[in-house]
Amino acid sequence: MFAIDKDGWVSHTKVTKKDRPKLAHGPMAPVKAIVLHRTGTTSASSVLNAWATKPEGTHFLIGEDGSIYQCASLKQQCWHVGKLYARCRTTSSCTEEDAKAIDAILHQKGTNWGQKFRMVTRHELEKDYPDRFPHNHDALGIEIVGALSTQSEIYELPNEAQQQSLFWLVDQLVAAFELTLSDIYAHGKIAHKDPKQSEGASALKAYRIYKEAG
Ligand SMILES: [Zn+2]
Repeated sequence: MFAIDKDGWVSHTKVTKKDRPKLAHGPMAPVKAIVLHRTGTTSASSVLNAWATKPEGTHFLIGEDGSIYQCASLKQQCWHVGKLYARCRTTSSCTEEDAKAIDAILHQKGTNWGQKFRMVTRHELEKDYPDRFPHNHDALGIEIVGALSTQSEIYELPNEAQQQSLFWLVDQLVAAFELTLSDIYAHGKIAHKDPKQSEGASALKAYRIYKEAG
């Protein structure tokens, strides 16, 4: 398992520190989950440049050649999750009361979808994980460089070097924070992102196959 120093930075030859102070938004609660993202770009350098000034980003970035960068302390929240789906609705397991409350938000007159989704997110955040999906305060984020296919409108599979780095990094984090496979999420499945809900999905699937084979 890799070492994490007192300030939340990983100490390992495979991880390059690229501190992007604008990504840090206050102390994390205990880490409960990891969310996998795709950059929508083809190079790490453009992301690292953007994160010099942007407030949104993730703790880790995996480049097109498999390089792993840590851009925020693991003790700091990053803004990377956004507007959550109501978890119980994705599994048809809402209590009657909760289903009513969520329906009331979604059918509220005079609000647009963005406002409704923000209200659902606030509603979800009143629940404890894992009754809801993870959010910024309890999930670490990993961005993997990769574009959305204009033809299929889904994210391409991470390449071999990226997969090897991802598997290693997730294994380390799972061990460090005592997580399980069910605590790893694809961004597109938990929050309003790409229309086909594919962001991070192929990366998560590859990780699951690797764990089942291992
Ligand atoms: Zn994302």
